[in-house]
Parts: sequence; structure tokens; C-alpha cells
Amino acid sequence: MLPDTAPAPLDVLRRVFGYDAFRGPQQEVIEHVCAGGDALVLMPTGGGKSLCYQVPSLVRDGTGVVVSPLIALMQDQVDALRALGVRAGFLNSTQNPDERRDTERAYLDGELDLLYLAPERLRVPSTLSLLGRGRIALFAIDEAHCVAQWGHDFRPDYLALSEVHERWPDVPRIALTATATEATRTEIAQRLDLTAAKQVVASFDRPNIQYRIAPKNEPRKQLLDLLRAEHPGDAGIVYCLSRKSVEQTAEFLVGQGIPALPYHAGLDAEVRARHQSRFLREEGVVMVATIAFGMGIDKPDVRFVAHLDLPKSVEGYYQETGRAGRDGLPSTAWLAYGLADVVQQRKMIDESEGDRAHKQRLGQHLDAMLALCETVQCRRVRLLNYFGQPGEPCGNCDTCLTPPESWDGTIPAQKILSTVWRLKNERNQSFGAGHLIDIVTGKRTAKVEQFAHDQLTVFGVGADLSEPEWRAVVRQLLAQGLLAVQGAYQTFALTDASSEVLRGEREVPMRRDPVKATRTRSRSSR
Ligand code: ADP
Ligand code: ZN
Repeated sequence: MLPDTAPAPLDVLRRVFGYDAFRGPQQEVIEHVCAGGDALVLMPTGGGKSLCYQVPSLVRDGTGVVVSPLIALMQDQVDALRALGVRAGFLNSTQNPDERRDTERAYLDGELDLLYLAPERLRVPSTLSLLGRGRIALFAIDEAHCVAQWGHDFRPDYLALSEVHERWPDVPRIALTATATEATRTEIAQRLDLTAAKQVVASFDRPNIQYRIAPKNEPRKQLLDLLRAEHPGDAGIVYCLSRKSVEQTAEFLVGQGIPALPYHAGLDAEVRARHQSRFLREEGVVMVATIAFGMGIDKPDVRFVAHLDLPKSVEGYYQETGRAGRDGLPSTAWLAYGLADVVQQRKMIDESEGDRAHKQRLGQHLDAMLALCETVQCRRVRLLNYFGQPGEPCGNCDTCLTPPESWDGTIPAQKILSTVWRLKNERNQSFGAGHLIDIVTGKRTAKVEQFAHDQLTVFGVGADLSEPEWRAVVRQLLAQGLLAVQGAYQTFALTDASSEVLRGEREVPMRRDPVKATRTRSRSSR
């Protein structure tokens, strides 16, 4: 029970934060936690998770202890709170001993409303003993998916959180995340002993974001077209997989007169900080970055998020695209996706460290992402369904605006798969996509002649489809697990499922890539 003197949550919201009303499920969560209950909160990025623990920390007696992996943002978060008159501090590895002592003293004297902690602090006995000597209002576990191995962002330090609960069983806990499928949610609840907690799931729908996934041809040129035609002068984020590609893409855009800045973990901390602050403060800056950039970035007017490479999971894709349009205005999430992405990602999983189960999980995450790319359904509905929520076709994504045809790809699939089979069984050879396509389309390249592949019965059996069409076929075979990538040369092999296709026991539905890119919303609709 709260003492009668405790301030009402709504008063705190208005007086301290200057907002009129709670948003979405905030009130429900806040009242529950203020009353001492545990909660597991799923809210999309930008949904307003912070207030869910900040307000109860101010309402309840003692200090709200916030565990967050976002060390780089703690200073900013604390500064922002202090500017509102909230007594906040943090403890992490970036501090000098004096700063740390000051924060510890303030906590012990009961002069902190909020204390942010890096998860690795919880492994240090002195931190636990410090916490024990003060008064804890609640524990907030931010980015709670980090505790789940099934998730895409597992952090071993989060496992220490169960000890915290054992030590302070009566302190209410609120776990928050923006990314959680049913499986991850269950794992979070189990690992944090929150199975009895109130679960609150906000809608993951982002109606102002137009989701588009385009066949990748010349990605930088496609990106430039997008920026020039639809987002001139707009701020946005371009995600690339590698540091090198980040730098090359940023250079390319700058060469085209677009104010672009690179951001990746290989740059000096000082350069990163400078680029981040320019992105936040100046108008129309395009940040070209690896996924190292973006967690916790609160810039409302990001008008587009472009991916030049395939994200590893739907969770990642949703979180990254979710940085667009936090202000609710129309925004674009654009992804260029092609055969090479699938080959590369499959290979990365194959070469990744970790046991079989780990690789299997990575494979499942990738499969879900590929299914989103290859779908003929509404992208937004697919995304919502992935997060366990229903939805109606949005009328705004690329598949709604230009419905892709689906077609029966069984015969082309059989042609490619039997080529792979013959090469392997008759000649003990295996090849990559380009050469396979040359064989089925009957192209007499030097390599074809060198290996006498024009002698194969499958040579030229696929002249009815163009090379781009064949690439789409191969891509979808990979996406559907009917072809596997193997070895350092990234050659193709059959899978268990391929034999069903070869025996004619399995059909292979495919998506026909639209010829023209979707570009329908005019800027005047803002
Ligand atoms: P999340 O952590 O879920 O990504 P934040 O807590 O950073 O989201 O909130 C996103 C933005 O929404 C912030 O700018 C925050 O100030 C604003 N916000 C949150 N709750 C409210 C509210 N009830 N009324 C108005 N603005 C809000
Ligand atoms: Zn749609």
C-alpha cells in the first residue's frame, strides 16, 4: 500500500514531465507498479516505456533502480531527467571514482529518485551491498529481451537479475522491451521469474510507416533515387552490414550532395559522438550506420530508414525501422534485398561460433526475415502477426499497393535442383548461383566450356526465363530451405527437402518480383 501522502501518478506526469495524459497502456502499468505489483511490458520503440518506470519511481518511496545495457545513453538520460528536476544518477564503467562516490552517497542518503545501472554492475558484490543499504522503490529492467537466449540480443550479464529478485523478493519489478515474440516473451517471464506478473502488450502497429522491400539491383543508385524522389532534405538512417560499406555509402551520398555521416563501432568514440549529435541537432542529416547506431535514439522526425543489407531477424528489422516516424507523420521503411544477401547470411550462420542449437536459432530468425521478404501478403500484417497481433491489410505497403503475383515455380525449381544433383552425383562438383544459372540458361561462358557443362542434359533447359528471373528463383529456393550454401566458395547443395521437389512430391510457390518500384505516396500527403 502507498502512504496517503504519495503523489498521484497523473499529478507527477503533469507536474514533472509536463504531459497532459497517459498514452496507450501507460496508466494501467503505472498504477499496477505503484501499488507494488510486477509487470512485463511490451511496447514498440517510441511507445513511451520510460515513463512506465519513471513515474512509479517518483510516486513510491525510495529509489527506482533501472538496469539498462545502453551505457552510452545513461549520461543523456540522466541529464534530461535532471533538467526536469528529477534526482537521477547512474553507475557504470565510464565514470571516474569521484563521480561514482557522489552517486553512491546520494543513493544512501535517499536523495535519488532514479539510479541507472549497467547490468554488469549487478555481478559486483559491492553494488549489491550498496543497494542493500539504501531504499529501493522498484527494479526496472529495460531492454528485457537481453535476458532471453532465444532473442536476438542476448547478454549474459542479464542472468544476474534473478539473484537480485531472490535478494529483494518484495521489491516490485517492471521488465520492458520493444522486441518480443511469444517465444521470447515466455523466456523473459521464466528467466526473470515474472510468470505471475501482469503482462501488458501495446500494439505494435505503426500505421504511419510505409514498409517496402525491393529487389536489390544497384543498391546505392536505388537508395539515391529514393532519397531524391521521396525524401529530399529529410533526416534518415541507412543501415549497412559492414563498416566498409557504411563508409563507402556515406562517401557516395556526400559525393551526390547529400549530407551523410558514417557511424560504426570502428570509429573513434569522439567521432561517433559528434556524428550522433549532428544527426540529432541538425536538420536533414542522413546517418549511414551499422546496427551499432540507434538504440535509444529519440529523434522524432526520422523520415526514412533504409536497409541496404538484409537484417538478421524480424525483431531487428522492426526495431530498426521503428526509428522512423516517431512523430506519427508518414515515413518510409525501405529494404533492398537480393540473392547475395541470403547466401551471405546463411554463410555467416554457418561460420558463427556457438553450438548447433544456437545456429538453429539464428537460422530460424533468418527464415522468418526471409519469409517477410518473400511474402505476397501485406507486410504490416505479416509483421503484426509475427508479434502475435492481428491486423488488416494496410493499403500502404508495397505488397498492398502493387500486389505481387505468385506463380508455380515447381518446374524451374526442379531444373535448378536437378542441375545441382547431376553436378554432384555425376561429376562430384558444386557451384555457386552464377554458374548454375549460366548452365540452365545455356550460356557458353569460358567456365562452361572449361568444364564441358554444355554436355550436360540440363544445359539450356531454362532458356524460357531471364537471368534476373532465375536469380529470383534461386533466391527463393534458398529462402525456402530448398538449397543450402556450403563451404568457403559458397557453392550450393541440396537439402533434405529438395528431394521432395525432385520427386515431384512438393510444389514450390514463388513470388514474382514487381517490375517497377512502388512509389505512390506524394509528399503533399504529409
Ligand atoms: P520508448 O522507450 O518506448 O522507445 P520513450 O519512453 O523514449 O519510448 O518515449 C518516446 C517519446 O514519447 C518520448 O519523447 C517521450 O517523452 C514521449 N512520451 C511518452 N509518454 C508520453 C505521454 N504520455 N504524453 C506525451 N509524450 C509522451
Ligand atoms: Zn500492406
